Amino acid sequence: MSLTDILYWVDPVVWSKRFDLPLSVTCFFIYFIVFHIACAFFGIADYWKLLRKYKLHESDEKTYLQLLPRVVFNQLAFYLTSCYIGEKMGWIFRTPSKDNAFQLWKLPIYLTLYSFYHEIIFYSAHRWLLHSKWGFNLLGHNVHHTTKGSVGISQHYMSVIDYYLEIVFSILIPLALIRTNAYFDLLVMVEDAILGSYDHSGYDFFLGNLKRYSPAYHSMHHLRSSCSYGDGVGSLALLDKLFRTSYYHYGYQSFPKVKHLVDEKSS
Ligand SMILES: [Zn+2]
Ligand SMILES: [Zn+2]
Repeated sequence: MSLTDILYWVDPVVWSKRFDLPLSVTCFFIYFIVFHIACAFFGIADYWKLLRKYKLHESDEKTYLQLLPRVVFNQLAFYLTSCYIGEKMGWIFRTPSKDNAFQLWKLPIYLTLYSFYHEIIFYSAHRWLLHSKWGFNLLGHNVHHTTKGSVGISQHYMSVIDYYLEIVFSILIPLALIRTNAYFDLLVMVEDAILGSYDHSGYDFFLGNLKRYSPAYHSMHHLRSSCSYGDGVGSLALLDKLFRTSYYHYGYQSFPKVKHLVDEKSS
């Protein structure tokens, strides 16, 4: 099988035509499958106690299966519908054509631009709305913080407003601003499926050697609460550095000793 054949088999445009589905719906379900394969992998590893030397902590009370129903509901009710509306409005999931094609060498530029927009929306909403004194309970961020960053699927365990701010808007608005085509939009969503679930898995496959790819930052956010608002796996981590809000700026060097601890301090 040649590379062209492989690309043909994973081409969302081909699948859309074959099943007569909107391109956004096809792309969403490719994303959905990748996300759930990644989460099932972490769930199986947790259940069978595999890969122990890479596991940073196990602070969660809720299990993969307990988190699953709300996650699937969020994804289908809010994420899928937003992808579909975005396509209908002409903002995202534009059919690849000569007009919106881009040369491959521009991909790192677009990915960097995406990370920049994403971090501004994610960090601002996370720190100044969701972790504000009034917003933590009112906007429902307390739901996501009932998880502690050691079960991959907990990335999407959120209340409605939290889910729109931190998942739907923070991913789809940058894509609408960059405005390339459905291939790029799908690539970003699949990247988020893998890195986002990894960020919440409690595993560090690089054993701390690749700092930007260590879930320790987001685990610190879940376990210490008022730090590391944006510096998750793969992010540019500009704003936590700029505002000096990474966990090490507060002097935290390790996870808290007490399991299931929720630091209610908010900034
Ligand atoms: Zn938070
Ligand atoms: Zn989280």
